[in-house]
Amino acid sequence: MSAAPRHIAIVGAGQAGLRCAETLRANGFDGRVTMIGDEPHLPYERPPLSKGVLAGHGDAGAIHLRARDAFGKEAAQLDVDLLLDREVTSLDATARRLTLRDGMRIDFDRCILATGGRARPWPNTARHGSIVTLRSLDDAYRLRERLRPGQRMLVIGAGFLGLECADAARGRGVAVTVVERGEQLLNGRLPSTVAAQLRGRHQANGIAFRFGATIANLAERANRTPGGANDANAASTPAVRLTLGSGEVLDGDFCLVATGQVPNDALAARAGLATADGIVVDGWCRTSSPHIFAAGDCARFPYGTPPRTVRLESWQNAEQQSRVAARNAMCADGQAVRYALLPWFWTDQAGWNIQMLGWRGPDEPPLTWVVRTATGSENERCVWFGLEDGVLVAAVAINSGADVAPLRTLIGARARFDATQWLDAGTRLAALSRALKS
Ligand SMILES: Cc1cc2nc3c(=O)[nH]c(=O)nc-3n(C[C@H](O)[C@H](O)[C@H](O)COP(=O)(O)OP(=O)(O)OC[C@H]3O[C@@H](n4cnc5c(N)ncnc54)[C@H](O)[C@@H]3O)c2cc1C
Repeated sequence: MSAAPRHIAIVGAGQAGLRCAETLRANGFDGRVTMIGDEPHLPYERPPLSKGVLAGHGDAGAIHLRARDAFGKEAAQLDVDLLLDREVTSLDATARRLTLRDGMRIDFDRCILATGGRARPWPNTARHGSIVTLRSLDDAYRLRERLRPGQRMLVIGAGFLGLECADAARGRGVAVTVVERGEQLLNGRLPSTVAAQLRGRHQANGIAFRFGATIANLAERANRTPGGANDANAASTPAVRLTLGSGEVLDGDFCLVATGQVPNDALAARAGLATADGIVVDGWCRTSSPHIFAAGDCARFPYGTPPRTVRLESWQNAEQQSRVAARNAMCADGQAVRYALLPWFWTDQAGWNIQMLGWRGPDEPPLTWVVRTATGSENERCVWFGLEDGVLVAAVAINSGADVAPLRTLIGARARFDATQWLDAGTRLAALSRALKS
């Protein structure tokens, strides 16, 4: 690669973008840093959007990762040229130039793409404001406005996002029906017993489910004109009508489409960089152009043995991959560090904090799951060990956050399951992991 860079541009002012800027400065990069984001907000974390922000807990402003003055040029500030509410519309990988929608051009030595993703929209639906998605802070504010007692919310998709929103809505007195094409919630990400228990908890809270459901039609009524000729008819027509393949009709006041995310990789694709459901990077976060890196939800990277490529939509990946991308963007080739992680994901719903370690592709053989229940907790606090040929490769901790660090160590060491020790509630997992280290 060429001489040490003097100007690094970061596209995307989300969690990964911010961590890139911080990492550059923390590692002594004293050149120019420009960060461009198309949202009007300072960088913020998205996990609270479907949890505390919707539920109305705490201060929504607290999700911002840095205050405005943190980007200034004083000592101890980041000294970042922060351009918010500005979209990068073109990337010229050869000329090393970004062009913004307003025509501004930014030349760079290295560029890091941290463009994240967007909610997958429902195809061919009219847009009258009653079929919504949740990705941004503004989406969350709009959705929260609708969560009023007596409202009927339909949710398409029983994944993490759909379920967390359903839970928050139910907590605000909304009648909720979740429609899922699979036979279980969370798409096989949990041991089937846990998925069934979680489903039971949601049902006990009053959430209705339709599993194995196909959607024949999703219709949205146009906004009615108050006092208009058809007003009386319109008032009795539901805002949203979902017709299932079974013929069942579900009416709602609004519908949340929570069917996943699509990566923001079009900018990279137009620039001629390799993309495949995400911006393809190598183990050092380099794209197919030597001066351009990518990190976070937008990046598809090699993972596991034998290596496959994955794109992880997780707080942890945004947090860690961005740091590696930034380190490698500022340094010479020989000093580059390789990205490696043990995937970790969490969700809060139905009164449970669920933390998952390890990642399995849908085509990989299923794991054997063994549960360890904390004494006297009647399954409220427990750890599930995910075993492959007797070796710990994944874990699910329910209301057991303190066990996550030791589980990480045990998985990292590919520890062999020992029923006598591991299922003895009197043996602390921390002690087992310490024994491994010593
Ligand atoms: C509601 C919700 C709840 C979540 N809950 C959890 C959770 O409980 N646990 C967990 O591990 N993860 C969770 N996640 C996932 C986690 O928040 C994401 O993985 C993380 O935000 C990814 O960060 P990022 O910086 O890669 O992308 P983003 O946060 O999407 O940031 C990318 C930014 O780049 C901007 N951008 C894109 N293109 C351009 C362009 N051309 N020009 C300028 N700007 C551009 C985007 O608008 C965006 O602001 C959740 C996500 C959502 C949406």
